[in-house]
Amino acid sequence: MPASHQRRIVIAGGGTAGWMTAAALSRLASPHWQITLVESEDIGTVGVGEATIPMVRLFNQTLGIDEAQFLRETHGTWKLGIAFEGWGGFDDRYIHGFGLTGRSLGVLPFHHYWLRGRAQGLAGPLGEFVLNAVACDSNKFAHIDRPQGSALPPMPYAYHFDASLYAAFLRRYAEARGVRRIEGRIVGFDRDAASGDLSALRLDRGEVIEADLFVDCSGFRSLLLGQEMGVEYVDWSHWLKCDRAVAVPCARAEPLVPYTRSIAQPAGWCWRIPLQHRTGNGHVFCSDMMSEDEATARLVGRLDGEQLADPRTIRFKAGRRAKFWERNVVAVGLSSGFIEPLESTSIHLIQTAISRLVDFLPNGPVQDADRDAYNRLATFEIERIRDFVILHYVANGRYGEPFWDSLRQMEADGQLPEALGERLAMFRASGRVVREHDELFDVPGWVQVMIGQGVMPERWHPLADQVAPASLKGFLDTVRGAYEKDVARMPSHAEYVAHVCGQV
Ligand code: FAD
Repeated sequence: MPASHQRRIVIAGGGTAGWMTAAALSRLASPHWQITLVESEDIGTVGVGEATIPMVRLFNQTLGIDEAQFLRETHGTWKLGIAFEGWGGFDDRYIHGFGLTGRSLGVLPFHHYWLRGRAQGLAGPLGEFVLNAVACDSNKFAHIDRPQGSALPPMPYAYHFDASLYAAFLRRYAEARGVRRIEGRIVGFDRDAASGDLSALRLDRGEVIEADLFVDCSGFRSLLLGQEMGVEYVDWSHWLKCDRAVAVPCARAEPLVPYTRSIAQPAGWCWRIPLQHRTGNGHVFCSDMMSEDEATARLVGRLDGEQLADPRTIRFKAGRRAKFWERNVVAVGLSSGFIEPLESTSIHLIQTAISRLVDFLPNGPVQDADRDAYNRLATFEIERIRDFVILHYVANGRYGEPFWDSLRQMEADGQLPEALGERLAMFRASGRVVREHDELFDVPGWVQVMIGQGVMPERWHPLADQVAPASLKGFLDTVRGAYEKDVARMPSHAEYVAHVCGQV
């Protein structure tokens, strides 16, 4: 296609958001769009963001990325869920595993049968009925192929990977497909006098980069959307009180677990992300309740392997931009908002922003209706994810710690976001969870976290009573037995990683 017929997109920033956007657009929007990415090595990237959720596989598949090559090049591992340690109580542990709880029987979600079975002494903990949780507890993984029509569900999985290697991997991919990369610091902007649209970025060495559409991937700075376009930040820190993280890598720990660990702390929580060559560690905390020195000491003092670098502190504020798309500027990644990585949702939000952007690519000037629809969809999505993350804090069982006591109190004081308050009340009363539109977390996800943290419904669905007790027991035993058998056949996670990626 002649360059004169191409429309131009400039991506400002080359972190995970920038290179994911560039890679996806190079695959989906080229040759009609000419894609340029500007980044500054001096400024660098946030350098964290290593745990994902299963939808990331769809992103890689859309790009045609080979899984084994991707894992080798990013030193990645498989992820089946998250272990929450010390959230439901000081010595409590549960796993939020990806995928279904149990399997279907009639029209009801499985947990109604489990609730009845549990009350009647026929069932153990819910985790015994979640395939991914069973595999996590056994520290095993392998791809499962089910015969078509199998009554058993597939085993969804995601990845842990090295964030900088992932960005580098995507950069090679994008550049090979024609994305132009410009090294430089953005120092100014040109606007179209008539429309107010952005017309160009100005770089420190005098270059002027013109475009029709601008994607702001500049990270927390939100250079284009926040600073230049003046779109305000909607602050959620009254619900999500953590505002800092200390991060430090350590040597690989054994065994190589197939899950992220999230370990509650007196004023926050620590993550452990197992990669092939190292473990990523971090402590997310509330600086009103704990000093940075103490947070760092708690993190560094409990590493599972030799410390590999100096600890680094990252400051943030939970929230989102009031709009994600303003005029001809769309924000993707941290420039559009931030929810702490408790459920590893930021990279997913990048992915869905890109997919929405592709859906809404303008064929001429940007239309208000398109922009408004984009903003509505993005707002709904991030607010529901926010609620899911708040749930973990509110439903805590850490009595006697001021940070956690105050978070539990939010529900009693009626201070929760309305949709979350209603969801908790409905679940307590009837065991029901209603998934609205295509919100990210599904019924099994909400149920695992609520039950995992001690939110128990008073009743189950009346139709669960229609199964005879012996049949119910048989059903529950069959499901548990099938998952035990699945997992018994799998190799250890470390063996499988070594088999697929070569020994590291
Ligand atoms: P950045 O990585 O900050 O990139 C910004 C880019 O903009 C850089 O290339 C920078 O050089 C460039 N830039 C900025 N200013 C200029 C300028 N003036 N001129 C030129 N270039 C400029 N997400 C997950 O999904 N899972 C996780 O486990 C997870 N953990 C996290 C832990 C923490 C503590 C934090 C803070 C975030 C975490 N995230 C996680 C979020 C994840 O890190 C980000 O979503 C992801 O890295 C994308 O960042 P970004 O590309 O938007 O920003």
